[in-house]
Amino acid sequence: MINVLSVASECAPLVKTGGLADVVGALPAALKKQGAAVRTIIPGYPAVMAALKKPKKVLSRRKLFGGPFELLSAKVAGLDLLVLDAPHLYDREGNIYLGPSGHDWPDNPQRFAALCWVAAMVAKSGVEGWKPDVVHMHDWQAGLTPIYMQVQKVAQKVGTVMTVHNIAFHGLAPASQLNDLMIPSRYFTSEGIEFWGQLSALKAGLVYADKLTTVSPTYALELMTPDFGMGLDGVLRARNADLTGIVNGIDTTVWNPATDKAIHAYKTPAGKAKNKADILQKFGLDESYGPLCVVVSRLTHQKGLNMLLQALPVLTARGGQIALLGSGDTDLERAWMTEAKHNPAVGVHIGYDEALSHKIIAGGDAILVPSRFEPCGLTQLYGLRYGTIPLVAMTGGLTDTVINASPAGLSAGVANGIQFQPVTTDALATALDHLCDLYEDKKTWGLLQKNAMKQPVGWEESTRQYMALYQKVTNAR
Ligand code: ADP
Repeated sequence: MINVLSVASECAPLVKTGGLADVVGALPAALKKQGAAVRTIIPGYPAVMAALKKPKKVLSRRKLFGGPFELLSAKVAGLDLLVLDAPHLYDREGNIYLGPSGHDWPDNPQRFAALCWVAAMVAKSGVEGWKPDVVHMHDWQAGLTPIYMQVQKVAQKVGTVMTVHNIAFHGLAPASQLNDLMIPSRYFTSEGIEFWGQLSALKAGLVYADKLTTVSPTYALELMTPDFGMGLDGVLRARNADLTGIVNGIDTTVWNPATDKAIHAYKTPAGKAKNKADILQKFGLDESYGPLCVVVSRLTHQKGLNMLLQALPVLTARGGQIALLGSGDTDLERAWMTEAKHNPAVGVHIGYDEALSHKIIAGGDAILVPSRFEPCGLTQLYGLRYGTIPLVAMTGGLTDTVINASPAGLSAGVANGIQFQPVTTDALATALDHLCDLYEDKKTWGLLQKNAMKQPVGWEESTRQYMALYQKVTNAR
């Protein structure tokens, strides 16, 4: 049995802004099946505190980054949680990272440093007779943990694994905050946590964790290039030998078309018809002869959805339609709403809606993911499981999880989606055209759907790889 302390800023189903939460929420159960006992430490945001039933206080201090804290142990939704209840840091409504102005909370460095500090305390002393063998950190919010483990003199005894879910977020803070963040100045060097004059919590994790992972093999390679490394490609190249790409799985009990309560459940692609009818109605679309393409996404530059707006005429000229569920940048939200107003082939729902995301994925013929970069991506995996053919940019995890309907892929009978590159509007338009060709050829389309639905998208294989890594860092001690 390996004991793992997972450190993260979000965890589904309690608190989620993106795929990070899905992974942090799903991994513990998958790892348990392979002999790991995972406890997950997360901040006590209001939504998390409200979900706790009979929490047990396992640790407390009068002062931590400006206020008192208690660490609460509780079981929620099958997860063994350690919740850091520090109201001065986390008792705030709204987005967990952003204040009412839409900007980062100014004390985000302190908010997540506190999480790391307490994680290091747990690594050192354990809780309730349980002590981790490995600490698994997720993204910059957990990045300072290995430094605090050194400061608290536990790094020699407990291994560390750092996973990059998205390198776009660095967790920067002014160098003047070193003291306040309880980081000894010896770490503030270019080989350490310094990043262009500031300190970077992400870089701390990348430099000081024993092993690094990211969420797909292709993204692991991309991270070591200037185009994708966001200034940290050199750091990652230096740690190439310790970096592994492990593709994300999805929770196949939550995402199961045969049992999904949010939809008309189905076992074969024929069962999608009723769900499609619902979506057409909900999004104010008429029946059409082309494919109903769906999108479930944050609306940000990364996701390439402005390219999709430009490529749309190719799709709609062939009877294709779009139903989009998303929220994010105001200008993108506005652009899509305007499109929906003027274009009868486009329906848009702005907002975040878990149930609707299931319905729309069940009802679509294809799911579009034209991301400029995509560490792993989850919605294409949902698409595969629901027989909703993914059309994806050939980047990151989208490269690793979809088998392109190229002549070779089709003649070998293994294709389950469409990939396009380079990631440009023109290539996307060509891919949409190809999608319409495939959709018209009902036999081929049926084969794609069959292949998609039988593709393994769960956690089994990836969990084995995490277990092997945990074993390695444990054995090294
Ligand atoms: P990212 O983490 O970059 O946002 P992923 O594809 O890895 O992208 O994960 C996104 C997750 O968030 C998926 O589970 C997806 O279904 C969900 N999601 C994104 N936008 C919405 C939305 N508007 N409503 C419901 N779920 C959403």
